[in-house]
Amino acid sequence: MDILNNESVLSWILGALLIFIFTIPYLSRWKRKHNQAQEKLDEAMRIGSNKPLMQHPIIDLSKCIGCGICTKVCPEGEVLGLVGGKAVLINGSKCVGHEVCMESCPVGGIEVSLGDISSREDIPQLSPELESNYENIYIIGELGGLALIRNAVNQGTRVAKSIHSKLNGSQPSQPIVVVGAGPAGLACTISLMEMGLPVTLLDQSEPGGTILQYPRRKLVMVQPIEMPGYGTMDKSEYSKEELLEIWDGIFKNHQPDFRSGQQLQGIQKSGQGYKITTSAGELSSDYVVLALGRRGTPRKLEVPGEDLSKVAYKLIDAETYQNKHLLVVGGGDSAVEAAVGLGQQTGNTVTLSYRKKDFTRIKTRNEEQITKAVKNGWINIMYESTIDSIHDDVVLIRQSGETHEIKNDYVFIFAGGVAPFKLMNNIGIQFGTSTIS
Ligand SMILES: Cc1cc2nc3c(=O)[nH]c(=O)nc-3n(C[C@H](O)[C@H](O)[C@H](O)COP(=O)(O)OP(=O)(O)OC[C@H]3O[C@@H](n4cnc5c(N)ncnc54)[C@H](O)[C@@H]3O)c2cc1C
Repeated sequence: MDILNNESVLSWILGALLIFIFTIPYLSRWKRKHNQAQEKLDEAMRIGSNKPLMQHPIIDLSKCIGCGICTKVCPEGEVLGLVGGKAVLINGSKCVGHEVCMESCPVGGIEVSLGDISSREDIPQLSPELESNYENIYIIGELGGLALIRNAVNQGTRVAKSIHSKLNGSQPSQPIVVVGAGPAGLACTISLMEMGLPVTLLDQSEPGGTILQYPRRKLVMVQPIEMPGYGTMDKSEYSKEELLEIWDGIFKNHQPDFRSGQQLQGIQKSGQGYKITTSAGELSSDYVVLALGRRGTPRKLEVPGEDLSKVAYKLIDAETYQNKHLLVVGGGDSAVEAAVGLGQQTGNTVTLSYRKKDFTRIKTRNEEQITKAVKNGWINIMYESTIDSIHDDVVLIRQSGETHEIKNDYVFIFAGGVAPFKLMNNIGIQFGTSTIS
């Protein structure tokens, strides 16, 4: 009897020990992950990156089993995290709508959509044909609220077909105007051309759109794309260079009437159609397709010399700048990341000019990086400074009432962007509720 008792006590102890051995590490891992995700969420809320800009994962908490698969599969990184054992949106603004989280959720607990947009002032009101509240003014691509190259291309093609069927075999009195030469505008332009319709494509910059300016190497294509003028793009990944080549080939083969460096500034009703005002003058058309994306126009400093070719509003590849005198202007994450990236290259002298006395809205990781870069002598920060003027070999910077002349080869300005929504408001486009699909 005693032996039996001893054995059962022993097996109880062993059982408890096993539970202890396996559950404690699990629980402490769980707790650590929870804390890390909570910290990231707090940081995202602090810098405002938690709020989604476009379509994003919407989690059904009653279905979520906290497996965490959705947090690992996103090509954009930390969009989702596990807090309290459930998936939560951490960096909503990073989501570009790949839908991989939705597809890999084992319990079908994620939907990727725009959510409730009734009170959003950045989602235009559109008909199912993507026509705005103005007849024959269409909005396609990211400007309408849906990210992804595939959506942009599909919407461009769809609107071209819509215009073609409206014209019912006749030709428009003037070329159709498409503004924005990203994937949406390009697809629309080439589709219209393939249907024998005249079209003018404008862009404030070079053709390519957002993605070609982004430093990431690989672009993810979850589903095949039918690209007008090219055919099926069915690889799951494309490098920026491959995309550029495809865009280039389309341009060469179709020779659209493309006008670069022309910024849309306004649209007004004029007779049966519209007067389109750009930085280069005026155009008229009965049909306008807006494919401006959502990144907007880089904000300028409006200082003498800013039009020199050595001034840029983005940094694509830090490694191409070595043994140079460089000025970075701004105090956000982009400015800090550019300054740190340039500061780490061989022989560069990097000055970071910021008009405030401290960085307040940057990621903790960037705060650590910039502190290290200053400590290592890679970067010189000029707080509370403003740019006076930019010259061929120097820049003049004002700080504490004094003007400093600093040697300079290139200037990178990160002063934010002017979102296209103000322009859209001025045109009279209505926002808020929509039937985007
Ligand atoms: C970091 C990041 C990663 C991404 N990764 C992927 C990915 O892996 N796969 C994927 O499918 N999608 C990805 N996307 C999303 C994709 O890039 C966009 O959804 C797509 O580029 C939208 O195309 P668009 O033609 O609507 O706009 P855009 O590509 O933004 O093009 C808009 C064009 O309009 C021009 N423009 C703007 N304002 C004016 C004006 N006033 N006058 C004249 N021209 C103007 C701009 O110069 C630009 O050329 C990513 C986006 C980002 C930011």
